[in-house]
Amino acid sequence: MRASQLYSPTLREMPADAEVMSHKLMLRAGFIRKLSAGLYTFLPLAWRTLRKIETIVREEMDAIDSQEIMMPIIQPAEIWQQSGRWGAYGEEMFRLQDRHQREFCLGPTHEEMITTLVKMDVSSYKQLPLTLYQIQNKYRDEVRPRFGLMRSREFIMKDGYSFDADPASMKVSYQKMYDAYSRIFTRCGLDFRPVEADSGAIGGSGSHEFMAFAKSGEAAIVRCHDCDYAANIEVACPQTPDIESEAAGVELEKVATPNQKTIEALCQFLQIDAAQTIKVVMYQAEKKLVMAVVPGTAEVNDVRVAGLVGAVELPLAGDEELQAHGLIPGYLSPIGLTPSDGLEIIVDPKVMQMTDAVSGANEADTHFRHVIPQRDFPDVRVETIRLITDEDVCPKCGGHITIDRGIEVGQVFQLGTKYSESLGAMFLDQNGKSHPFYMGCYGIGVSRTMAATIEQSYDDDGIIWPVAIAPYQVVVVAANSKNEEQQQAAEQLYNELTRAGIETVFDDRKERAGIKFKDADLIGYPVRVTVGKTFIEDGEVEIKVRRSGEVTKVKSDKALSTVQDLLASLA
Ligand code: ATP
Ligand code: MG
Repeated sequence: MRASQLYSPTLREMPADAEVMSHKLMLRAGFIRKLSAGLYTFLPLAWRTLRKIETIVREEMDAIDSQEIMMPIIQPAEIWQQSGRWGAYGEEMFRLQDRHQREFCLGPTHEEMITTLVKMDVSSYKQLPLTLYQIQNKYRDEVRPRFGLMRSREFIMKDGYSFDADPASMKVSYQKMYDAYSRIFTRCGLDFRPVEADSGAIGGSGSHEFMAFAKSGEAAIVRCHDCDYAANIEVACPQTPDIESEAAGVELEKVATPNQKTIEALCQFLQIDAAQTIKVVMYQAEKKLVMAVVPGTAEVNDVRVAGLVGAVELPLAGDEELQAHGLIPGYLSPIGLTPSDGLEIIVDPKVMQMTDAVSGANEADTHFRHVIPQRDFPDVRVETIRLITDEDVCPKCGGHITIDRGIEVGQVFQLGTKYSESLGAMFLDQNGKSHPFYMGCYGIGVSRTMAATIEQSYDDDGIIWPVAIAPYQVVVVAANSKNEEQQQAAEQLYNELTRAGIETVFDDRKERAGIKFKDADLIGYPVRVTVGKTFIEDGEVEIKVRRSGEVTKVKSDKALSTVQDLLASLA
């Protein structure tokens, strides 16, 4: 490819409105253009990288006998109604009607669709196990589309589904896919880790997320440095050591605390430590309010709370909803409340160990002192609902943990029979008995993987592509474009590299060397070959590795073999 023809409109300046580096750099280096919130066009460089990621995916799927198909993006509402997700998926689903006012959605995922498909033709245990996948655009009307390709509304996903006869073979299919995903992300050059994950709205029993480490990551990952434990913070359950605490003590005392509605304000006002306070967070489940109670110094793990009450979505309750239940925002506690159909109270065990705490009094401008939850919180449900911190120990081995940021590039789920049962997808076993399929589902964010790679691999000058997914591997530059001899030698080298199967760009533009070098660094070609002054003097060209900055000078007839060796060593 000649740079003069390449459609990669680079920008001089960093785009100001982009928040993360992958977004900034892909806009600046001419990889993508934004149409509107969360909707992007992939220009040739991005498309080449995406196709390389897809090729890696396809090769690894072939290796485990997973077969590629292509399902419709437009899905009828009925199949989602049957699974019960038409309502549950909420506002994230793009919905549309056809000319007969029949309802459809743009596929955010394809469990319903694949189950409906497999149900048509698979009816015997002899046809199992079966694993199918597709690579396709997915549509999600995200609350906050942001960070460019990281969280967009139309994005490329590889989604796969497995069908098995029983839980044991479902686990085998799951493990195969898990291993294939590890190979895919390794081959893409990512620094990643599979972590234990919540199965969320999709349902099911076991799940892992593949997390690429990056400061800009939206997920928090708990990692143990003494064992192999790694989990999304949402599923990490901090330990609460047993301690004997007195259930009796000084009587409750009411104190006036006008306008002291936050932990911080309350601590200042009463001159107490936050460790003595109790935090209450209220959620609105479908049919009831949920009161989550944790130590004042902790945060609530809302995913865990949602799991405990069986909610798909668990928004915070608004002041009006609280007042409708006679609750006073800012002065809440379980004291004097009775759990009912309309109110569930969940208290963290660490709170139950407190012996002289301060909590709201469920009365305006009033708190209680000397609270002893064991004595004062009767009938509450005790569950670990506080978020783990790096001051906790490893939930598995008691060792040292840290909390890092990660980007979820893939996720695998053991679904069990949730979809096969609701959609009536059955097969006959050896004895002619009918059973629902045991399913797994598996996703990779292909476009997010491209962005995650950049988040891990850039410097002040631009992107640094791993060879495996670089849009082109090499750029050849003639330093002085006015020098015929240099220009010709560069063109010859470009032809030679291209003939040898190396994806090469020849920067044939009539630009200054500085501009070509800057663009080469910005786009992030792994290797740059420069034909400059030393070529005229002693027939040498300069070969520079983008990642290390290392420069080698070789006679031009050794350029090809040197580049080949370098690319092999970088792979
Ligand atoms: P998240 O928690 O980040 O919203 P998710 O858990 O809803 O993602 P899955 O349903 O597991 O996503 O989808 C499979 C993969 O698709 C994810 O691992 C991620 O890489 C990718 N993905 C999901 N949502 C988006 C999005 N809005 N933009 C780009 N990629 C996405
Ligand atoms: Mg996920």
